[in-house]
Amino acid sequence: MSAHEEKYEAVIGLEVHAQLLTASKIFCGCSAQFGAPPNTHVCPVCSGMPGVLPVFNRKALELAIRLGLAAHCRIAPRSIFERKNYFYPDLPKGYQISQYQTPLCAGGYIELPGENGDAARVRLVRIHLEEDAGKNIHAPDCSLIDFNRSGVPLVEIVSEPDIRTPQQAGAYLRELRSMVRYLDVSDGNMEEGSFRCDANVSVRPRGAAALGVKTEVKNMNSFRHVEHAIAYEIERQIELLEAGERIMQETRLWDPDRGVTRSMRSKEYAHDYRYFPEPDLPPLIVTPDLVEQIRTEMPELPAARRARYTAELGLTPYEADVLTQERELSDYFEALLPGLDNRKTAANWVMTEVLRAVNESGRPLAEAVPAPAEVGALLKMVEDAAISLNAAKAAFAAMCKSGKGAQATVAELGLLQVSDEAAITAACEQVIAAEADKVAEYRAGRDKLFGFFVGQVMKAMGGKANPKIINEVLRRKLAAN
Ligand code: ADP
Ligand code: MG
Ligand code: ZN
Repeated sequence: MSAHEEKYEAVIGLEVHAQLLTASKIFCGCSAQFGAPPNTHVCPVCSGMPGVLPVFNRKALELAIRLGLAAHCRIAPRSIFERKNYFYPDLPKGYQISQYQTPLCAGGYIELPGENGDAARVRLVRIHLEEDAGKNIHAPDCSLIDFNRSGVPLVEIVSEPDIRTPQQAGAYLRELRSMVRYLDVSDGNMEEGSFRCDANVSVRPRGAAALGVKTEVKNMNSFRHVEHAIAYEIERQIELLEAGERIMQETRLWDPDRGVTRSMRSKEYAHDYRYFPEPDLPPLIVTPDLVEQIRTEMPELPAARRARYTAELGLTPYEADVLTQERELSDYFEALLPGLDNRKTAANWVMTEVLRAVNESGRPLAEAVPAPAEVGALLKMVEDAAISLNAAKAAFAAMCKSGKGAQATVAELGLLQVSDEAAITAACEQVIAAEADKVAEYRAGRDKLFGFFVGQVMKAMGGKANPKIINEVLRRKLAAN
C-alpha cells in the first residue's frame, strides 16, 4: 500500500445503461436491431415528429422486472414516465422519456464473487426504464446523425457508492453483464454500445464518514477502460488534495489513447432537466401476478451457480467464478458431468482445453468445440484409464478440427492405453535390469527415484502404458530384493 492509499479511500458509484433485448423500440414499432444502415429504423414517433403518441412496449417492462428481481429490488406496483428535457442534436423531441421520481425498481444489490469466496455486495439505488437517444457521427467536415438508436429501450442501473477500488468496479460490471446475459435481458455487448458505464468517483480521508466531491467519468466502452479511468481519477484527485486544492464537481471524459480523463463540463453548466410527468403515457401498473409469473421463469443466476459449484461440486471459488461467467460455458460444463466421477477434471478441462479452443478459433463455443457428450466420453476414457490425460488432450484438439467423435478419434490416433499387465511387467523388468545402480540407490532409501523409473517404463512403452499399473508393478518389483 502506498502512503496515499493508506491516507485516502476511494468511493465509487456506477451508472450502467443496458439495452433491453426487445425486437422493437420502447415507444414505437421500429426495429431495435443494431447494425442496420443509418436511419432505416425510424418512424414519426422515434424521430420526434409533433403530434405523435408513444405506445409502451410490454416486453421492455417484463425484461426490466426480470433484472429487478434478479438484483433483489423492490418492484414498484405503480411507477410513471417523465420527460427529461434537454437539447441535443441526437434527441429530436428535445426531451428523453425516462423515470425519475418513481423508478420501476428500487433498492436491491449485486453480489460480487469475493476474493476469498466471501460474497461482497454492492447495493443498488434503482433500476429504471428509459429510451436511448440517437447517435452523432462526427466526420471531418460535418456531423451526421443516425436515429436508428433513438427510442431503443434501456434500463439504467444505478449503484450506491459502495465500491472502493477499480478492481471491484470491474468485478461489479462483469457480474452485472453476466447477469443480464443469463437473463436474456440484454446482450451486454459493450462494443455495440448495448452495455455502457459512467463512473462516479470521489476520495476521502480513510475513516471519514462524509463523502468527498465526486467527478463523473463518461465514454468508456470496455471493462479495462473503466478500471484504468477510475484508477487515474483516484490518483488525480488525491494529488489535488495533497496540493491543498479542491475537487471540482464535473463531468470528465476518458481518453483511452492518452490514458487520462479530461474535463467535459463543470457543474455550473449542469443541465436543469425540468423533469415532469409524461402526459402521453399512463402510469405503469405492475400487478403481483405479473411479478410472480416472471419470478417463476427466472433461470439460475451466476451467484447461485457459484454457490452450488463450491458447495456441491467441491470447486474453488475461483474455478466456480471462471466457469459461471458465461452461461453457455457453465451449461457446457454441467453437460459433461453425468457419468463422470471426477468433477475437478471436468472443471479443469473446461477452464483450460475448452476455453483455449474457443479463444484460438475465435468462434462461439458451440462451433469451436465438440458436443459435451463426446468430450464427456473422452474424459470417461481417462477415468477408466483407457487413455492418458495427454492422449485425451491430443484427441480433443483433433476432434475440434475434424468434428469426429471421441471413440473414432482415439482409435484413429492409436491413443488407447496399454493395460496389459504382462507387457507392462516385462517393460518394468527391463528397466530394473538396465538401471541396477539407481535400483540400489532407491532401495537404500532414495524414494524420489520412483518417478524416474515410472518415466523410463513409460518411455519404453511409447507413452501409452497405463500409469496406474506401472506404479503397482514397479512398487512390487522394486520392493522385492
Ligand atoms: P447525480 O445527481 O450527480 O447524478 P446521484 O446522487 O444521482 O448524482 O448519483 C449518481 C451516482 O453517483 C450513483 O451511482 C451514486 O452512487 C454515485 N455517487 C453519489 N455521490 C458520490 C460520491 N460522493 N462519490 C462517489 N460516487 C457517488
Ligand atoms: Mg448521473
Ligand atoms: Zn420508430
